[in-house]
Amino acid sequence: MHEGMNAVSDQLGRSLADLRVSVTDRCNFRCRYCMPREHFDQEHRYLPRAEILSFEEITRVVGTLVPLGLRKVRLTGGEPLLRSELHQLVSLLRQFPEVEVALTTNASLLAKHARALHDAGLGRLTVSLDSVSPEVFAQMTDSELPVGEVLAGIEAAHAAGFGPIKINCVVRRGVNDHTIVELARHFKGSGDIVRFIEYMDVGLTNGWRMDHVVSGREIVDRISAEMPLEPATPNYTGEVAKRWRYADGSGEIGVITSVTQPFCGDCGRLRLSADGQIFGCLFARVGTDLRTLLRGSPDDAPLRALVEGFWHARSDRYSELRTLGVKNLPRLEMSYLGG
Ligand code: SAM
Repeated sequence: MHEGMNAVSDQLGRSLADLRVSVTDRCNFRCRYCMPREHFDQEHRYLPRAEILSFEEITRVVGTLVPLGLRKVRLTGGEPLLRSELHQLVSLLRQFPEVEVALTTNASLLAKHARALHDAGLGRLTVSLDSVSPEVFAQMTDSELPVGEVLAGIEAAHAAGFGPIKINCVVRRGVNDHTIVELARHFKGSGDIVRFIEYMDVGLTNGWRMDHVVSGREIVDRISAEMPLEPATPNYTGEVAKRWRYADGSGEIGVITSVTQPFCGDCGRLRLSADGQIFGCLFARVGTDLRTLLRGSPDDAPLRALVEGFWHARSDRYSELRTLGVKNLPRLEMSYLGG
C-alpha cells in the first residue's frame, strides 16, 4: 500500500479504484439508445456553464481521491471532446503519476485532437462505434457525420502514438446486430479490440426492452461461426469485458454482459457528473453534491471525508437486482452521469 494511503471499502467489500468524470452533458450525436432527439431537443435544459466544474476543480477532486486508492480516471460525457482544450485537463491530471488517464469518445473530433491529447499524456483511448456500415452508423447515431470521420479519427490516434484502441459497440437487435460480424472483421488483425456491449436499460428516454438486447453469448456465437473464437483468460480481476481470441491468432474481441451476466461484485467505479455530483451505480437515482464543498472550502480534508463516507455506505448492485426482477425505478440519463 502507498504511504499515506487509506483505501476505502464499501458495504459489499468493493474498493474505490476508478473515477469516471463527465466533462460535459452535451453531445453532437443523438444515438437513439442514449440521447434520443425527441428528448434532447431545443427544449432540453443542458447544464449552464457556471454549474460545470472547471478543470482545476476536477483535478482537485482527483487529488483528494488518490489517497483513497484511486488509480484510474476516465474522461467521458456527453461527448468529452466538445469540451474545449480538454488536453489541458489531461496535463493537469498527469501530476498524479499513480493515476492512469483514459478517454471515451465518439471520435468525431478525434482527428483534430489526437496529437494534443497524446502529447498531454493521455494513456488510453476507447472509441464508441456501433457499426462500420454507413447506413447503420447513421441510423444508430442519428447524425449526418459520416462513419469515415470516426475511422479517420482512429487512424489519427494511431499516428499520434496511441497503442491498441478499444472500440465499444452497443448491440441493439434489429438495428445494428446484422453488422457485428462486419465490425469484428474490420478490426481483426489491426491490434485494436472491439468490445460488444449488451444494450442496457440506463435512463428512461430510450424505451429499452429486454427483447432489444442481444446477449454476449449470441454475439460470440455469431462471430465465431465465421471467424472461430476461443475464450481467453482475464487480464486482471474485475475486468468487465470477457475476452475471446481469434483461433488463428489475429487478435481478440470482448463482450460486456452487463445485462445477462452482471458484474456488480467487482465494481470499483465512482462517477462525477459535470456539475460535481458523485454517484456509484450507473442506475443511481440521486447524487451526492461535492461542488458546494469544493467551491466553499479550500481544505481538501472535508471533501475527502465526504467521498469516503459516500463510498463506505455504498451497497448498490442494480444490474444484479434487475436480473431478480426489480425494474422501472426512476433513474438518470447516461449523458448526464457519464458513461
Ligand atoms: N460520447 C462518448 C462516447 O460516445 O463514447 C462518451 C459518453 S457515452 C454515454 C459512453 C458509452 O456509453 C458509449 O460507448 C455508448 O455507446 C454507451 N452507452 C450509452 N447508452 C448505453 C446503453 N443504453 N447501453 C449500453 N451502452 C450505452
